[in-house]
Amino acid sequence: MVSVRDNIKAPSIPIRNVRIEIQTNAANPPNGTTNTRGLVKIQWAGRADTYRVWVDPLNTPEDVSDADVGPATALPTTGHRFHRFYDFKITVDDDGNLTSVDGSSPEMALDEYGTVTMSGNNRLNITLKTLAIPSPNHSARPNNTDISLIVIHCTGGAVIGPALNRFAARGGGASAHYVIDTDGSIIKMVNDDRRAWHAGRSRWHNIAHVNNFSIGIEIVNRGFSHKQYTEEQYLSLIGLLHRLRDAHPNIPLYGIVGHSDVALDSSMNLGKPRPGDPGRIFNWERLESLGLGIVVPDDITNDDFDLSMIYDGFFADNEGGILSSGSSRAAIKELQNDLRSIGYHVGASDGEYGAKTEGGVKMFQVHFSQDPAGDDSVRTNRYDGKVDLRTALCLKRIIVKLTGFWPDGSKYT
Ligand SMILES: [Zn+2]
Repeated sequence: MVSVRDNIKAPSIPIRNVRIEIQTNAANPPNGTTNTRGLVKIQWAGRADTYRVWVDPLNTPEDVSDADVGPATALPTTGHRFHRFYDFKITVDDDGNLTSVDGSSPEMALDEYGTVTMSGNNRLNITLKTLAIPSPNHSARPNNTDISLIVIHCTGGAVIGPALNRFAARGGGASAHYVIDTDGSIIKMVNDDRRAWHAGRSRWHNIAHVNNFSIGIEIVNRGFSHKQYTEEQYLSLIGLLHRLRDAHPNIPLYGIVGHSDVALDSSMNLGKPRPGDPGRIFNWERLESLGLGIVVPDDITNDDFDLSMIYDGFFADNEGGILSSGSSRAAIKELQNDLRSIGYHVGASDGEYGAKTEGGVKMFQVHFSQDPAGDDSVRTNRYDGKVDLRTALCLKRIIVKLTGFWPDGSKYT
């Protein structure tokens, strides 16, 4: 008996319509196709030899099985999860018993696409790597809407199963285009041209409903500070970001943000709702070093700024001061304008340090607080919504790079 299931834990499901093909020149090889329970009976009697076994999930399009998951992985409109091809080697003895199984593949990378074990009664247990799980939770993008943003999330859980189940459930109300497992596997759930439901109440560059114009990527992690994202996840994410930007040229380099940058609370303010999504442990600097996302430039230092030229001279006049409500309106207005030019939703630039401004500052600080390299002079290092000199200079460095101008109006090259 051969059993074929997919590699998703909680739950793995049996895979039907998988062709098990024994590579042999002998007549009438004992091939077969799995039934709805993922099972197929193969007769080994009289077949003493060593064979390669080709495992072919028949509903997987040939051209995507060994390609990287990305925009080119088009999901069927109906149907089931689809899986990678796989092949392995078995040895059968004179009594028709399986004596050994070897999961390594001569085909490049195919051995990463499945596992195989042997158990009693000559049973082979095959798992196949999942490539895509179509989610029913998506809708049309509004007409004439370009995809111009990528939103990175964490699933909030330590394992992938619950997130996949929720996104795949009809009526689950949530989905993402891509989910990246802890081992770096990417699973596609919604085609890029459809609107996945990942960002909820949200706003970026003063445009509401971020789902309309974004791609959502969920990374398996609990968020906050429980456990670091894995190296495999960063590598997979970076590859996917490049593929997405190639396919959707209206996504600018800086158009890669976290859910925490765009999520609004029930009173439509930034601030509290998603500080852990993807959280301060997410290594934005890793992306920035490749020019991806909102970059804090490292060719501009804090010493490059004349403090009397920024924020109405607030930090020149108040050493160690905190820019907040009660500070000069001109300084607060400049702060609001800077946050707005990056994309944060801070309401009107009215010179009042209200809830929206404080929320925008908090979200900015969460994104730019992490400092894995230990160079504590360049990131905010706080996320309490209070603008100290470090937060102010981090913001200004980004603004100079983004606008191409220094605070005194001279050109940054
Ligand atoms: Zn999220």
